[in-house]
Amino acid sequence: MSEGRTELSGIGEFGLIEHIQQMFSTKHATSLKGIGDDAAVIGAGDGSMVVSTDMLLEGVHFDLAYMPLKHLGYKAVAVNISDIAAMNALPEQIVISLAISNRFSLEAVDALYEGIRAACESYKVDLVGGDTSSSASGLIISITAIGRVSNDKVVLRSGAKANDIICVTGDLGAAYVGLQVLEREKEVFLTNPEMQPDLEKYEYVVGRQLKPEARMDIVYDLAERGCIPTSMIDISDGLASELLHLSKNSKLGVKIFEDKVPIDHDAFETAIEFKLDPITCALNGGEDYELLFTISPLDYEKLKNHPDIHFIGHMHDNANQNVMITKQQTLVPITAQGWNHFTSA
Ligand code: ADP
Ligand code: MG
Repeated sequence: MSEGRTELSGIGEFGLIEHIQQMFSTKHATSLKGIGDDAAVIGAGDGSMVVSTDMLLEGVHFDLAYMPLKHLGYKAVAVNISDIAAMNALPEQIVISLAISNRFSLEAVDALYEGIRAACESYKVDLVGGDTSSSASGLIISITAIGRVSNDKVVLRSGAKANDIICVTGDLGAAYVGLQVLEREKEVFLTNPEMQPDLEKYEYVVGRQLKPEARMDIVYDLAERGCIPTSMIDISDGLASELLHLSKNSKLGVKIFEDKVPIDHDAFETAIEFKLDPITCALNGGEDYELLFTISPLDYEKLKNHPDIHFIGHMHDNANQNVMITKQQTLVPITAQGWNHFTSA
């Protein structure tokens, strides 16, 4: 390897983003929040616009062997709306850039846009533009979502305070477990195309992988209950990684309890079937698109009866101590690389 060459694998995705971030400073007073949150915050009249972009690549983020194009279209929108939700904002518009090869027919494009249209309906957003290009390799979909929020309601990753309660919505790990099922069925199908995959038993986990929803319902519920989280992020990479983002940005430590982390029954059973540790799937699986947020203890009463919000721990003063208390009452560090229940016990 020649001198002066730094491998990207050595610095990782987050290191690369930080490296890019350091090369730029903002020039406009309206650039309220730049690189480093779920969406940028841009001053616009009375309130702010939030802008987020995400790209899905065939072979990296999805496999058309088991991802129907309609679901793919829906998911591509949902993952972007999820970042808008993570700012406590309401989405209004999307633009879509598509790179596609002549391997696809007009009917295939229609199926993709049927999913996109369904997502535009359910999240109440307008498709207002985009770009179309030919692709030499696979299908690429890049979506930018734009939302709006009043300045007193915008929630960043950096606002948590010591003793704030850490909350998570829905359940975690199922999308990753669902992906394992789909990968296995694909192998079976490739070996014997006569075999029809039997996915009924895995309906929930497979659905979590193929049909994720952005938790806009939670954004509305929080507003209805008069609760503004102190910090928030959506769970795209896994609970552990997102907890570390809240820790780093809020300059505090996180402490969570394993027995409070919500894991669906089917996801738990299927993880065991695949010889995976369910809590590791929840911590490091990713693609759940649930919301992770912190609230002041004073707001606990407002949310305590919400059926889909779980209280998993709290923030504390020591920014270097990000830990989970296991079911056996042992203390294990939270790392983005993953924590193995079996080797650490
Ligand atoms: P998320 O998982 O919420 O979509 P990312 O980890 O993709 O967030 O991005 C974190 C932050 O880094 C965001 O503010 C995003 O806009 C920014 N970012 C990511 N990639 C780049 C890039 N290549 N150039 C500039 N900013 C980037
Ligand atoms: Mg995000």
